[in-house]
Amino acid sequence: MHVVVSGGSGFLGSHVCEVLVHRGDMVSCLDNFSSGRPQNTAHLLREPLFRCIPCDITEGVEVSEKVDAVVHLASPASPFDYGRHPLETLTVGSRGTENMLQLAVRHGARFVLASTSEIYGDPLEHPQSEDYWGHVNPIGPRSVYDEAKRFSEALAMAYRRHLGADVGIVRIFNTYGPRMRPHDGRVVSSFIRQALDGEALTVFGDGSQTRSFCYVDDLVRGLVALLDSQHTGPFNLGNPKERTVRELAELVRLVTGSRSELRFLPLPVDDPARRRPVITRAQESLGWHPRVPLEEGLRHTVDWFMSQPHALVRPPERSAVGRTS
Ligand code: NAD
Ligand code: UDP
Repeated sequence: MHVVVSGGSGFLGSHVCEVLVHRGDMVSCLDNFSSGRPQNTAHLLREPLFRCIPCDITEGVEVSEKVDAVVHLASPASPFDYGRHPLETLTVGSRGTENMLQLAVRHGARFVLASTSEIYGDPLEHPQSEDYWGHVNPIGPRSVYDEAKRFSEALAMAYRRHLGADVGIVRIFNTYGPRMRPHDGRVVSSFIRQALDGEALTVFGDGSQTRSFCYVDDLVRGLVALLDSQHTGPFNLGNPKERTVRELAELVRLVTGSRSELRFLPLPVDDPARRRPVITRAQESLGWHPRVPLEEGLRHTVDWFMSQPHALVRPPERSAVGRTS
């Protein structure tokens, strides 16, 4: 297959590209490196089956060779990133998604959309199954991401119903692993970086809010299973084991051997209180379930963070380059 992966140099995208290339697919990665990094896919450039096309997918997408599948991952994903780039987030979720859908339709290719658990907002139903319609503040600071993803889902379903597009949708719950940016502001990357740097771990609120953390290898296996199927979904992909943020902080301290304190900071506006996926649909239709326990996944992630050049882990203002003494 020739698969076009938008956002292929990001955290998840780079793992998707790697899995596809290693199984023998040809992969064209489209990325503008706004939150992704060229080094995430640098090792794949040696492979004849891989190429990276720097571009902004909101400005139109053309690929000359026949395309068999499109995996659409391009979008800021962390609250820190979409908070800094609200308009770009809305544009890539709307125009960017439409450009990728049109590419798929032109080539008669399968289209897989990376949606998110954020479309459930601050959920009133717990745990969340795909039948839940969500509880989203349409004008709050998170709405640029939540509503863009809800629009992406609506657009993909309209293309399916009215143009016969071959569409699959995954709703991804908090995923972590190697190649997260140490300064992306997400909780796993922040806690690991802080613990390794001997800084206090910044717990927002009292840390009683929950998330369900999925290791990247598990997530990518589920996404590729959907790509290879004819199912539309949507499918929740995530680890149904729910943890409080405070539990996560304790686990990161354990895994890193850190004695960092916890620093409690105000809870961001509209921060969802609870989140846990029901994954029965993915289990029954895709034969998928996550395998990697949190502690094991955190160990892999910490090992990766420690293998990175020092400057990548330290905050820029405290990096070797910026230090004055
Ligand atoms: P990421 O920020 O590492 O990756 C996103 C990639 O998209 C980056 O490489 C970025 O440069 C690229 N991009 C953004 N705008 C673009 C544009 N206009 N043109 C071309 N490229 C563009 O984030 P991630 O965690 O890898 O997330 C990937 C996808 O999965 C996103 O769509 C995100 O919403 C979704 N998702 C991720 C998670 C998670 O926990 N990681 C959870 C839910 C949903
Ligand atoms: N969080 C935290 N400290 C941080 C970053 C995040 O306590 O330094 C909390 C955040 O308030 C949220 C949870 O961790 O309740 C997950 O945040 P993240 O940004 O990773 O993902 P999302 O909010 O999109 O689920």
